[in-house]
Amino acid sequence: MIIAIDGPSGAGKSTVSKEVASQLGFSCLDTGAMFRAIAWKALECGIDLSDAQAVGKIAREYQIDFQCMEGEVLPSVVTIGGTDVSREIRTSRIDRSVSAVSAHVPVRSAMLEQQRRIGNAGNYVVEGRDIGTVVFPDAELKIFLTASAHERAIRRLAQNRERGVGSLDFDEVLADIERRDELDSSRDTAPLRAADDAVQLDSTSQTIAQIVDSICDLAKKRMGAL
Ligand code: C5P
Repeated sequence: MIIAIDGPSGAGKSTVSKEVASQLGFSCLDTGAMFRAIAWKALECGIDLSDAQAVGKIAREYQIDFQCMEGEVLPSVVTIGGTDVSREIRTSRIDRSVSAVSAHVPVRSAMLEQQRRIGNAGNYVVEGRDIGTVVFPDAELKIFLTASAHERAIRRLAQNRERGVGSLDFDEVLADIERRDELDSSRDTAPLRAADDAVQLDSTSQTIAQIVDSICDLAKKRMGAL
């Protein structure tokens, strides 16, 4: 079974996905981390990020994998071509670059293959922007998770503080979120949008625990109906 969770940056998708996965005994896949890893590798190789073909080549040539730390059940380590980039992909440098990379068609088609390869291997909660619309259009449950930009910036700031990586300046974080919302929603290929059959949840005035409960309830009903 696939549970697709899409939505804009900072809506709480990662926290919600991990919690839903652990409650249901599923694995989870953070597709944003994959685009971030490509952006990191392209910058490392000195590639012009506006060059769709060159960045696409990176996306085709390097395999991205997720691994669990010892004692963990859900993956938190991201590697590209065998290099651990878990921290590097969370920096402001990558926040600023990733939407340019993810807009390229060759990058998206390479990622689509890798995302399906991983997600089809079992029961997965897959989070991203186009999971319910493009990557897994037949997902048994689709959620579109939103929150106000202000609330999302507050959460992203807290996450950066907790991880010890990324900007700690509220205005910078808010500006980055608004800029990425605009870029991700307006691109031609696989823009951020809710699938017609997605359940829309707004986490501005609900706690993460309430959102997780709603999704788990929906998932159990759908599993029962399968
Ligand atoms: O979710 P996260 O903020 O880490 O995603 C980083 C970026 O990756 C997004 O701003 C978006 O440009 C891109 N992305 C995407 N499609 C996905 C997941 C992420 O285009 N399925």
